[in-house]
Amino acid sequence: MRIRHVVWWGVVGLLLIAAGFAAGYALSSGTPSDRVHDIGVETAGARKWYCSMHPNIIRDRPGLCPICEMELIPMPESMAAEASPRELAVSEAAAKLMDVQTSPVERQFVANEVRMVGKVQYDETRVRTITAWVPGRLDRLYVDFTGTTVRKGDHLVYLYSPELISAQAELLQAVKAGANAEGTTSDYLARTTASTLEAAREKLRLLGLTAEQIQQVEQSGKPLTHLTIYSPIGGVVIHKMVNEGAYVTTGTQIYKVADLSQLWVKLDAYESDLPWIRYGQEVEFTTDAHPGEVFTGRISFVDPVLDPTTRTVKVRVDVPNPDGRLKPEMFVRAIVQSRVAQGGKVMDPDLAGKWICPMHPSVVKPEPGQCDICGMDLVTTESLGYVVAQTPERAPLVIPDTAPLITGKRAVVYVRKPDTEVPTFEGREVVLGPKAGDYYLVESGLQEGERVVTNGNFKIDSALQIQAKPSMMNPEGGAMPAGHQHGESAAPSAATQPQAGTPDAGHKH
Ligand SMILES: [Zn+2]
Ligand SMILES: [Zn+2]
Ligand SMILES: [Zn+2]
Repeated sequence: MRIRHVVWWGVVGLLLIAAGFAAGYALSSGTPSDRVHDIGVETAGARKWYCSMHPNIIRDRPGLCPICEMELIPMPESMAAEASPRELAVSEAAAKLMDVQTSPVERQFVANEVRMVGKVQYDETRVRTITAWVPGRLDRLYVDFTGTTVRKGDHLVYLYSPELISAQAELLQAVKAGANAEGTTSDYLARTTASTLEAAREKLRLLGLTAEQIQQVEQSGKPLTHLTIYSPIGGVVIHKMVNEGAYVTTGTQIYKVADLSQLWVKLDAYESDLPWIRYGQEVEFTTDAHPGEVFTGRISFVDPVLDPTTRTVKVRVDVPNPDGRLKPEMFVRAIVQSRVAQGGKVMDPDLAGKWICPMHPSVVKPEPGQCDICGMDLVTTESLGYVVAQTPERAPLVIPDTAPLITGKRAVVYVRKPDTEVPTFEGREVVLGPKAGDYYLVESGLQEGERVVTNGNFKIDSALQIQAKPSMMNPEGGAMPAGHQHGESAAPSAATQPQAGTPDAGHKH
């Protein structure tokens, strides 16, 4: 894009030099209004001369081309006499020399590709913190370093706890009381001992003993001196917060374990990419660790807030990682391909007319219903910016991105008029939508089937400028204001103020 801009402005510069020559000539031969008068009224007869190599060089009398020094030739009447002030008629030969090429305005679901970079991260909903449930001393930490893989139920911590020992003593007393009360005829006594026993068991459960451990204590009659803490999920130990031998209180964090079978990829999207980023879209990405291998996921969240320092928005992608080959902190390069429909909606055959969970983009159903994962009501994909069906009339009107000449917020295209004796081009101001791939969406100003100039359009514009007609660079027509003849001429001036209804400039670059 940057290189293209450089080339573009290089072309502008050259043409402005040419325009400068022409303007200089005009000043020496008459006032600008005289020239307009000449063109408008006295076009009969070969009153103009032009260079066959440089059709934008047009003079009131014979002479040499200031660019190539060739002899200027008389301009045919059909070229000089034009009805509309925004029209340029040229000979077939001149059109060839200007290398004018046109493309039809058409309805098409254009493909757009958004490229982003980012990083693999933990799925924050799949991280568990291992905390001490009772105060005590960490006699043994079975996982010595972060990065260790654990299975669900693996032992992690061996905790010595006086509080646990006294709670077990209460349990053993309750067991003994229950045994003594056996055979009693008192319902009251039986009920009391039973509920005391149950309360003692419950206390130990709350302290973290398993049902099996409690049963073992009751049967052996010996209290456990240590509590073993097991991993609640399978995953990887990502943090170890304390060291072996430390004393902990209730709630002290010991380990963090992350389930890596599902991961997040966090990508940075530029503001201009946002029209094409949707919840639920498929994302393809690659990593340096697995060259040539393409991973996929679905967009699960688009941050509603733009990062003011980077001017980017975080896009979160849910990625299955069953074989564990993706690792947190890996860099990724991602592509979102979208097919762009009318009104900036996105066409996705997988999602068109479907229902989706607003929390789980992998849950897509053909009918309304609830999410299998979270039970939420599914919503229509249409409400998330997708078109309902892939019908041709939903395709947007598009033109190649080489067709419009854009300064500031104005866009001018040159339309090849049909059925004219010689090639005739009409300048037209259009309202563009966002850019998608090599196309611009057209909001107004063009009809399907019209042919727009995709090459040679700047030469046409320049020729109109020299004839003091309205052009992209000089929308009011007439002689170019002096300020427009220098390098910075494309900067917005009074004549090129933004027009109401034109899209943001940000959508065009
Ligand atoms: Zn020439
Ligand atoms: Zn072990
Ligand atoms: Zn859900």
